Amino acid sequence: MKLQHHYQSLGEAFSQSSLPEHVRNPTVVLWNQQLADTLGIKANNHEASQFFSGNALITGSKPVAMAYSGHQFGQFNPHLGDGRAHLLGELRTAEGLIKELQLKGSGRTPFSRNGDGKCGIKPAVREYIMSEAMHALGVPTTRCLAVVSTGEDIQRQTTTPGAVVTRVADSHLRVGTFEYFAARGMHDEIKVLADIAVARHYPEINDKDDTKYLQLISHVIDKQIHLITEWMRVGFIHGVMNTDNTLLSGDTIDYGPCAMMGVYDPNTVFSSIDHQGRYAFGNQPWIAQWNMARFAESLLPVIVDGGEDAIALVTPLIESYQDKYQQAFSLMMAKKIGFSENSQEASQLCNELLEIMFKKHLDYTETFTQLKNSLQPKDGTSPVLHPSLMEWQIKWQETLNKKQLNHQAVTLMAENNPLAIPRNHLIEQVLTATEANSAHPAASEMLKVVQNPYTLTENTHKYQVTDKDADLNYQTYCGT
Ligand code: AMP
Ligand code: MG
Repeated sequence: MKLQHHYQSLGEAFSQSSLPEHVRNPTVVLWNQQLADTLGIKANNHEASQFFSGNALITGSKPVAMAYSGHQFGQFNPHLGDGRAHLLGELRTAEGLIKELQLKGSGRTPFSRNGDGKCGIKPAVREYIMSEAMHALGVPTTRCLAVVSTGEDIQRQTTTPGAVVTRVADSHLRVGTFEYFAARGMHDEIKVLADIAVARHYPEINDKDDTKYLQLISHVIDKQIHLITEWMRVGFIHGVMNTDNTLLSGDTIDYGPCAMMGVYDPNTVFSSIDHQGRYAFGNQPWIAQWNMARFAESLLPVIVDGGEDAIALVTPLIESYQDKYQQAFSLMMAKKIGFSENSQEASQLCNELLEIMFKKHLDYTETFTQLKNSLQPKDGTSPVLHPSLMEWQIKWQETLNKKQLNHQAVTLMAENNPLAIPRNHLIEQVLTATEANSAHPAASEMLKVVQNPYTLTENTHKYQVTDKDADLNYQTYCGT
């Protein structure tokens, strides 16, 4: 395992040297062998516990905390940065891809402000399970290599075991990283960051081209649109879409207060601090657009001298988001009901379906599975379908028949509608069991199901039981 230090080598303006804190008794709680293999990481249990708690440093590690700012709930905060995370360095995979390794919960850094730099075992395991589930669902995401408990208790609402998560990302460049330098008038540094983003995430952009930064904005917007469309497909609610949690790579990051939508309702919010519903399920596309506007603003100084001309060039890119998103969303929804292309008919059917689901409080995931099954009833038995869907189902099936799409519809629906999502009440049960006993198999058992979301496994049904209160009192918490 050999780490490179491209980001560290950029200098003190970008990151501060900081060592992970030593922990008393590191024990591996979760280990992602498949990801370790992809990364070419070979470590026995003891080595993993040492390296991925921060107790031992991988040869040549130069841990740093990255500087960044961010708009949090719409308010600009110039002073954020990694307050409890250490970037160890970059690995090159056998395929030549660069992956950054970061420890989270590994102690205080120069950016910690009043925080303790720690992470509890529940949010650590939550990040592992949620990000693995998202990866398996096909949603772009950062991943987790390991969760290691520290053998030390930390203070939250109650005392809880501490843990360190190892996060793997294509890069940790955030919109907030650009905002940090824009707020300080450091335009050369913005160019450095933008050039890294182009080289690492958008190599199709010609870096000799005068318009490369404009192209970067356009590419980042397209990746955000894809990301949010994918969240909407599987019912994911991020919960804290601040600009410091928006990656240039277009991957999902920061699984603090996220949750899955059970009953379909665009107004669904679970985060305890999102009082206005800013980050509600149905608002996510428009918040991402808002975040893209903040990204474009931070790049203005490096686009044709940053004046009116730059604004005139950037504005149409931000405005194009809406139409592009609507198209991506309509196509995604069309596929969820078995049409490979969007059409007025498909669009109308989708709208009607969502309205029934909303009015009748139907489960988002279960409904699409039921509809798919209704196309292939077994032995003449009538499918389990909510009565409110009967009329719609007939109309939908007639449209598919008319277009001779029945057969392909089943395949398309199976590919686009998960059978298993990490249900909120079940993940909470797993976290409670793991907090009480970090060797409890609950997390591994749930992972076996959510890592195979399109396949009916032995335990799929067990993990798809919906909450008896339909998540009515469910609440999630940030950065705990
Ligand atoms: P997050 O809510 O995880 O996106 O974090 C927002 C900011 O708070 C980032 O600058 C984090 O590094 C910082 N932060 C969150 N939790 C802690 C903690 N326990 N100790 C220090 N900094 C923290
Ligand atoms: Mg964050």
